Amino acid sequence: MTETPSHIPSPIVAAQLRDEAKYGIPQQVAPGVVRVLANNAKDYTGPGTNTYVVGDEKVWIFDPGPDDPAHVRAVIAAVGGRKVSGIFITHTHLDHSPAANPLARITGAKTYGFGKLSGDILAFTDEDVDADFCPDVALACGGVVGDDDWQVMAIHTPGHFPNHMCYALPHKGLLLSGDHVMGWSTTVVVPPLGHLGEYLDSLDKLEAGGSRLMLPSHGPVVEESVSRIRDVREHRMMRHAQVKECMGRGITHPAQIVTEIYEGLTPRLMEAAEGCVRAHLELISETGEQRLQAVRQGTEPVQAL
Ligand SMILES: [Zn+2]
Repeated sequence: MTETPSHIPSPIVAAQLRDEAKYGIPQQVAPGVVRVLANNAKDYTGPGTNTYVVGDEKVWIFDPGPDDPAHVRAVIAAVGGRKVSGIFITHTHLDHSPAANPLARITGAKTYGFGKLSGDILAFTDEDVDADFCPDVALACGGVVGDDDWQVMAIHTPGHFPNHMCYALPHKGLLLSGDHVMGWSTTVVVPPLGHLGEYLDSLDKLEAGGSRLMLPSHGPVVEESVSRIRDVREHRMMRHAQVKECMGRGITHPAQIVTEIYEGLTPRLMEAAEGCVRAHLELISETGEQRLQAVRQGTEPVQAL
């Protein structure tokens, strides 16, 4: 599915994707790229988390997913006895990083990611965070792993989550986009872990990379990476204009703004929509800098590349 992203994760689209899902069965989605879908479908994960096994004689694992033994077994089956050179984490939401350590124990591979979140920022959120996860190797933005044709470049992309990394394989035209740009919906950007200004800056970084094929952590492969990134940016700017317009009319409470600008919203997604509106209000009031400081101070790199 490569349609223009919906305004917020759609339960109808999620249900369709779940009906078509093949959990635990490795699927080749591009040359040298096998996807294993975890059976953890929820409102914000669409059909579940995509774990990718990428390479030929040696492989990398991207986005290990939830610590579900059936999923871990399916990923190991997709590896098929090949050497695993590294396990890359896009971010530490609970649907992404918990299987990293079990997979590392089985394969002997090191884990790679941006770093651990600080307790300071975690005190201000009730999001499902894998708070204790710390990668073996902390990557800096622009850090490169691998050699020859098979190289992975880390791109720090905060906005959805402070330690979010996307990974580009420049020689293959691939972009592992994590949750930053998904294949089934727009991404939830909710303060304090999310920040809209950072989100937009990160979109710019991804567009500049010019990758061809996008492999998101949720939903189908996206064949037109750059146009999808532009669609997502356009959608955010449209929402931003709507929020400003509401404020111009004296409507300033997030719940009221949601009522004004989100049509046909499923009631259980009200809280997420309010969170997204708060991200727009935060950007408008330019109060994001304080939060940025807290996140930067909280990063605990183990080994910078
Ligand atoms: Zn996430």
